[in-house]
Amino acid sequence: MAMSSVPSEVPVIIVGAGAAGLATGACLKMRGVESVILEAGEAPGTTWRSLYDRLHLHTVKRLSGLPGYPMPRRMAHYPSRTEVADYLSDYAKRFVLHIETNCPVSAARRDGERWIVTTPQGERSARVLVSATGIFRNPETVAFPEQDSFRGTILNASIYKNAEPYAGQRVLVVGSGNTGAELAVDLAEHGIATSVAIRAGTNVVPRDLLGLPIQRWAHILESLPRTMQGVVRPAMLRRSAKRQLRAGVPRATAAAGQSDRVPIIGLAFLDEVKRGRIAIQGAIERFTPTGVRFADGHEAEYDTVILATGYLPALDYLAGVVPLDATGRPRVDGMRALDAPDLYFVALHQSIRGTLYIISREAPEVARQIAASLQPAATRRR
Ligand SMILES: Cc1cc2nc3c(=O)[nH]c(=O)nc-3n(C[C@H](O)[C@H](O)[C@H](O)COP(=O)(O)OP(=O)(O)OC[C@H]3O[C@@H](n4cnc5c(N)ncnc54)[C@H](O)[C@@H]3O)c2cc1C
Repeated sequence: MAMSSVPSEVPVIIVGAGAAGLATGACLKMRGVESVILEAGEAPGTTWRSLYDRLHLHTVKRLSGLPGYPMPRRMAHYPSRTEVADYLSDYAKRFVLHIETNCPVSAARRDGERWIVTTPQGERSARVLVSATGIFRNPETVAFPEQDSFRGTILNASIYKNAEPYAGQRVLVVGSGNTGAELAVDLAEHGIATSVAIRAGTNVVPRDLLGLPIQRWAHILESLPRTMQGVVRPAMLRRSAKRQLRAGVPRATAAAGQSDRVPIIGLAFLDEVKRGRIAIQGAIERFTPTGVRFADGHEAEYDTVILATGYLPALDYLAGVVPLDATGRPRVDGMRALDAPDLYFVALHQSIRGTLYIISREAPEVARQIAASLQPAATRRR
C-alpha cells in the first residue's frame, strides 16, 4: 500500500519508515528532493507499534523530536510508546512522504550509476540509496549449550508485550541492557518470580539527576574537554554507582558513558532487586531440561527464558554489497558508505544522548549531502 501517490521515478530510495527514514525523507523534501520510502511493516513507525506495552522514552520529548516537527506539547515529558508511534504517523502525513508499506527490501545491488533494490512487488531503482532499517528486525541470536534440552519456553525480548502470559511462572531474563532491565521490572511488578542473568556487569544511571534528565547531562558532558569529562562523570554518577553496589548488581568494567553501550536508564531495576523481587544471577553455563546451570555451578528451574541479548543493525539486504564489521556495521565516513557510492546510513549507532536526537542531526546532514550530489556538476562548482 502506498501512503501517497508515488512518482514513477525518484532520485532517492530510503529503506525503512522508522524515525530515521521518515526524518531523512522529510529533510530531503525540505530541499526539494523527492524520495520513496520502502517499509517492511504495515505502517510507518512499525517498531514503536510492536515494542512492549510499558515502554516510555527515557529521553525527553524536547530532545527526541525529528526535524521540522518537534514533539507536540500534548505529549508527555517522557512520551509513551504509543505516543511515539502516533507522532511518527503524524510526521509522515505532515510531510506527505511517499511510503510503500508491506514492502520489505530483500536485496540491493549496483547497476552502473544506479541502485536496484528487490521487493516482493518487483525491482525499484534510484541514484541514491539510504539505509534506515534500524536494529529491531535483527535481534542478536545467542545459543547456549544444551539449549534444545530445555522443556520450557525460550523467546526473544523483541516479541515480549506484557507480563500477562507469564503469570505464575518462574522467568529468567538474559541480558542487562535497558530492554532486559525493563522487562524484568515489568514482570516483577506483576508478581512474577523473576531472575536476571548478567554475564559481564552493567551500569545503571538515574533517568533524572539534580532536576535535569540524564540525557541532558550526557549532552553537557559531551561539550566538555575529555580530561574534564573523566573527572565530572564519576563524580556525577557516584551515588548511583553506590546504589548499584548495595543492590548487588555487578558493575561493568567501563563506566557509563565511556563505552558505546547505553547504560540502564532509571533506578526502578535497582529498587526491585533491593526489594528482592528480582534475583541477580551470573553467566549461564548451559541449559538443563528444567532450567539453567550457571557458571558458579548452581542450578535453578525456570518456565520461561527471555533472551534480551541485544540487536544488530538490520542490514541483511546489503549482504555482499558492503563488508560489515564484527558489530554488523559498514565502514562509513559520517553517514556515507566508504565501500559503495551514493549509499548512506542513518542511525547506525545508539547513544546515551538519544538515538532520536542523533537522527535529528544526521538526517538533515544526509539530505544536504544527497542534494549536493544530485546537482549537476556545473552548478556544484559555483
Ligand atoms: C526498546 C527501545 C527503547 C528505545 N528508547 C529510546 C529512547 O528513549 N530515546 C531514543 O532516542 N531512542 C530510543 N531507542 C532507540 C531508537 O530511537 C529507536 O530504536 C528508533 O526506533 C530508531 O529509529 P530507526 O528509524 O533507526 O529504526 P526503527 O524505528 O526500527 O525503523 C526501522 C524501520 O525499517 C524497517 N525495515 C527494516 N528492515 C527493512 C527492510 N529490509 N526493508 C524494508 N523495511 C525495513 C522496519 O520495519 C522499521 O519500520 C529505543 C530503542 C528500543 C529498541
